Amino acid sequence: MLADKDRIFRNIYGFHDSGLKGAIRRGAWDGTKLLIDKGHDWIINEVKASGLRGRGGAGFPTGLKWSFMPKADARPSYLVINADESEPGSCKDREILRHDAHLLIEGALIASYAMRAHTSYIYVRGEYIREREALQRAIDEAYAAKLIGKGNVHGWDFDCFVHHGAGAYICGEETALLESLEGKKGQPRLKPPFPANVGLYGAPTTINNVESIAVVPDILRRGATWFASLGKPNNTGTKLFQISGHVEKPCVVEEEMGIPLRELLERHCGGVRGGWDNLLAVIPGGSSVPLVPAHMCDDLGMDFDSLSKVKSGLGTAAIIVMDKSADPIKAIARISYFYKHESCGQCTPCREGTGWMWRVLERMAEGRAEKREIDLLFEVSKQVEGHTICALGDAAAWPVQGLIRHFRPLIEERIDQYARSHQQAAE
Ligand code: SF4
Repeated sequence: MLADKDRIFRNIYGFHDSGLKGAIRRGAWDGTKLLIDKGHDWIINEVKASGLRGRGGAGFPTGLKWSFMPKADARPSYLVINADESEPGSCKDREILRHDAHLLIEGALIASYAMRAHTSYIYVRGEYIREREALQRAIDEAYAAKLIGKGNVHGWDFDCFVHHGAGAYICGEETALLESLEGKKGQPRLKPPFPANVGLYGAPTTINNVESIAVVPDILRRGATWFASLGKPNNTGTKLFQISGHVEKPCVVEEEMGIPLRELLERHCGGVRGGWDNLLAVIPGGSSVPLVPAHMCDDLGMDFDSLSKVKSGLGTAAIIVMDKSADPIKAIARISYFYKHESCGQCTPCREGTGWMWRVLERMAEGRAEKREIDLLFEVSKQVEGHTICALGDAAAWPVQGLIRHFRPLIEERIDQYARSHQQAAE
């Protein structure tokens, strides 16, 4: 279990003052200038050494991503912070925005300095209205205290702007987010070129998740070795886990990477509703990752590598728990509807495939399908996966594949049941 002294987010529940004074009491803005004075490369190397992997879902090493930014370029550089948190199940970044925003702003200053950027944009999800207001309050406080802005006490001119999205899921995709920031329709761009070369307004840009940036000041203050000593090799540090669904007490909690799922649920969430034996499956990383059935959950570690070994993923660490009262076919059909609804429509496999998969799953949830359609559905999901401009295609395909991999007998039984009941009615 993570010791209190190792917690980075000390106000995640909002019990304390989220203003500047409270944040400073908890350790924010402590020695920031000393960190900046150590230089661009020191910061990037320290973040690399900490083993921090991006907390937005993909798990790409943060320090390495920063090192892709050009060191000398006539164009300005930008840091864009993705606070568009829209993945069903994900609700961690909002807690940072409304209760611990100064960690984010301090992290934005340090990360911008490391990448030689003087401007950062924070793109906030359209539905997060109070969160945006809380963030703006914190930014205003930081400006007033000359912690950021032109001629600030840290000696690196830095402006931080909040941009409020309009509520489209696809704007969480980094290049769609950039399009939206530029005032255009939020549709993903083809890559390459990658944002580090051609990003916002055609200039070098790095896009990071809120949590990835907010943990940086503490990593630098306490040292990369401290962060790397938590968790497991290649899966280091602490992580905000978000647990929803059929547990006694859904919550957001900071824990060590790699914590066993069972310990996480029993220690922080009061356990699965009806006890561990009543567990049916979990979706461990937000709705886009394949579900993991109960029999594989006993020793399941909550980290990138352990979850990829069971053909799922840590994603944003948004854990959706299903007990035996849940209908997994209906649940995945609902998730499919979400991706169909959120597809931006640029690529044919995604635009057509998401709707096709949803319609078949709706029928399968009733049993109104043929067994040969199960393989067909799997095949179509494979045609969507990896054949689209952005990862929404994969996000729509993976839950379907997980369902078929683990619950094929249930789908077949539902089809048999439907056929039997119709035969009886006919007789
Ligand atoms: Fe748009 Fe879907 Fe293609 Fe992504 S995969 S660009 S959401 S159509």
